Amino acid sequence: MFRYLYTALPALLSGCLLLACGQQGDQLDRVLDRGELRVITRNSPTTYYYDKTGPEGYEYALTRRLAEELGVRLKLETASNLPDLFRTLDLRKSDLAAAGLTLTSARQQAYDHSLPYDRLTPQVVYRAGDRRPRSLEDAAGMQLVVLAGSSHAEFLSRLRNGQMPGLVWQEIQGADSMELLELVDSGEAQLAVLDSNEFKVQQGLYPSLKVAFELEAEQDMVWYLPPGEDATRLREHIDEFLLGLQNSGELAKLREEYFGHVANATRIGSHTFARNLRNDLPNYRDLIRQVAAEYQMDWHLLAAIAYQESHWNPKATSPTGVRGMMMLTLPTAREMGVKNRLDPLESLRGGARYLKNIKRRLPDDIEDPDRTWFALAAYNIGRGHLEDARVLTERQGGDPHLWSDVMQRLPQLQKSKYFQTVKRGYARGLEAVTYVQNIRHYYAILQWHDIPELQPSPPLQPAEYLPEQLRGTSLSAI
Ligand code: GLU
Repeated sequence: MFRYLYTALPALLSGCLLLACGQQGDQLDRVLDRGELRVITRNSPTTYYYDKTGPEGYEYALTRRLAEELGVRLKLETASNLPDLFRTLDLRKSDLAAAGLTLTSARQQAYDHSLPYDRLTPQVVYRAGDRRPRSLEDAAGMQLVVLAGSSHAEFLSRLRNGQMPGLVWQEIQGADSMELLELVDSGEAQLAVLDSNEFKVQQGLYPSLKVAFELEAEQDMVWYLPPGEDATRLREHIDEFLLGLQNSGELAKLREEYFGHVANATRIGSHTFARNLRNDLPNYRDLIRQVAAEYQMDWHLLAAIAYQESHWNPKATSPTGVRGMMMLTLPTAREMGVKNRLDPLESLRGGARYLKNIKRRLPDDIEDPDRTWFALAAYNIGRGHLEDARVLTERQGGDPHLWSDVMQRLPQLQKSKYFQTVKRGYARGLEAVTYVQNIRHYYAILQWHDIPELQPSPPLQPAEYLPEQLRGTSLSAI
């Protein structure tokens, strides 16, 4: 998939011969002297945001590795729209722009750029039920929106200057394409152009939006450097770094981590649950009961969480590096004194303790059972983001103490119109709601299963049906 990186290798090597490799005082030296890599990005689900464990996102993960490799700190800054992002680069306030940026001919003329580290397809999205155009020609007369300063706006301008002089569209100022989806979803626009990865990540929020057609063939995603010769050595260094990531398989792993989860984020699978309840739960029921007793919680709830986390698989691992029955991250495991995350007893204890800590630290005036749902949401998304959703709830006249009110606002943390107004920015709010609601669903089933009168009666004991003289004999002996 990333073969195009290899094809660029000869160009990379000849570039190295052409430049004055030893030259002092250039962008790379400045980064090293400063001890800090300044990166300009966007706060968006495909680039950079805050998760329960701290900063996250594909661009964050990549640039953090680059900074580590350079032995410097990473300083990420966010621009609120694409023209601002490039202005920061023009003013040399950043060493690098890393924000899901497409390689375009206009940008290529203005900036040096890295090797491509991903590919994306620009797509035109419409609302199912409306007329579906099959091409730009076909979409004539429909209202089309794109992000201002984006690669898509550049592409449309080129077409208008060439074969489609009548082409009309509207440019929206914003940092991410979710605003466009919002406009199409609400009917204020009919079509939006955005990149395939961005649509994939947010599609769950907008079930009625679909791809109408692909605007162009696959495009390269690159990092841009400040204009001028001066950044050549830094660019070379970056290219080698990206090649290294690709060769080690790390790049593919990161893509899976940041974009691979989307497909199954909202799966409930009641069918599988019923089967696992019969086959797997009996193996762990006693352990779960024991740990629940230790932490004074309902064992059905702990079992429901463990099911949501790992499907009761103590060896579960995910590409994001979480592991075990309770899918603990390494920092959480350490904090909770868990040495071996794959040990089910340790994992359950770590998860139960962590949840209890979160629950204790929630504001006092949130009462159970909502308190439990809030704790679960915080367990999934982080306390800070949950607090942001409560702020949104209050602003909109809802009650921030009620899960039913807050759960309606959590998905707003994925929409820039809202997340830009709160402290911690973008978060996967919809996933947190799904997480809590799934657990509630499993919890309810588990409780139901455990009500004795609803269970089949246990088999009779010999004492209950055998005549006295035969008691103590095994059935096969009769
Ligand atoms: N990849 C786009 C660009 O480079 C930004 C994202 C989008 O508009 O979907 O301008």
